[in-house]
Amino acid sequence: MLTRLTRHLRAGFAAAGAVAVAVGAAVRTPAERPAGAATEHVIVVSIDGLRPDAIERYEAKTIQRLMREGAYSLQAQTIYPSKTLPSHTSMLTGVPPDVHGITFNSRKSDEHGVVEVPTVFAAAKRAGYHTAAFFSKAKFHHLAQPGSLDYWQGPGSNLLNWMATRTVPDVVSYLEHEKPNLLFVHVAEPDYAGHTVGWMSFAYGWAVKRADGAVATILNAADEAFGRGNYTLILTADHGGHDRFHGSDDPRDMTIPWIAWGKGVRPIGPIDAPIRTIDTAATVLWLLGVEAPPEWLGTPVVAAFADEARIAGEPGGDVASGATAATVSN
Ligand SMILES: [Zn+2]
Repeated sequence: MLTRLTRHLRAGFAAAGAVAVAVGAAVRTPAERPAGAATEHVIVVSIDGLRPDAIERYEAKTIQRLMREGAYSLQAQTIYPSKTLPSHTSMLTGVPPDVHGITFNSRKSDEHGVVEVPTVFAAAKRAGYHTAAFFSKAKFHHLAQPGSLDYWQGPGSNLLNWMATRTVPDVVSYLEHEKPNLLFVHVAEPDYAGHTVGWMSFAYGWAVKRADGAVATILNAADEAFGRGNYTLILTADHGGHDRFHGSDDPRDMTIPWIAWGKGVRPIGPIDAPIRTIDTAATVLWLLGVEAPPEWLGTPVVAAFADEARIAGEPGGDVASGATAATVSN
């Protein structure tokens, strides 16, 4: 009977070309969180292929609001090769490709398993936090380490790419029932349009607006789930692009937006300090009061956060060492 049920479920997921995994785990109660957490809820939104200069050009109003009310850099740098899977792996493991070893850019589950360096999900989960990830491309399977995510979903095949109209309603539904401490959402429209028609083309601009609308929807759902002002959001991208490609060390491919907004964020607008994509994972753990795995090389972007958050986010409440982290980071 159980076998039949399992087969039925598998058949259902296969038919939808989807993978969805939920692991029964209790949501962490506030009393259990690590001492020193600056926030209980962090959302990372990655907009695939979003060039920083597209935000103003295509009037991405929600993202512009996050910049106005938060702290940001439009000069943050991704890793080389500036491709989706190597870059997201660096974003979510805090190390460059020569350390994490994910240099390919498609789902190769038969040849390669999951990444070996602990992901930000694994580190947060190990600290007792509730983690969830919504991917729009199949290649992200390599980042779903067993036991690291209470819930994750993504397409089951490299031939399937999900639009935000698939991914984001699933995020909204999830937030109606769960309150993840770490939520990752991948929105891919600008990348699809860039490869099809060209970066900074009319179609790309339309896709940027669609992605901006997706961010607005996620914010509304998060306001409902966590309470307005009670969560921290980091919005970034895996790479930019030019013509119909990305992957090179051209600044148009390498430069990405990095925006922090919400609880604990200092509304200073532009951040002068250089930011690397490997700093994203470190910043997430720092906000949640979790010590980064020893092999991580990224450092928290402490310049983006208010002094109270710095004190809270630094294990032991040491402001001075937080400031040191900023110096090392830059
Ligand atoms: Zn990408």
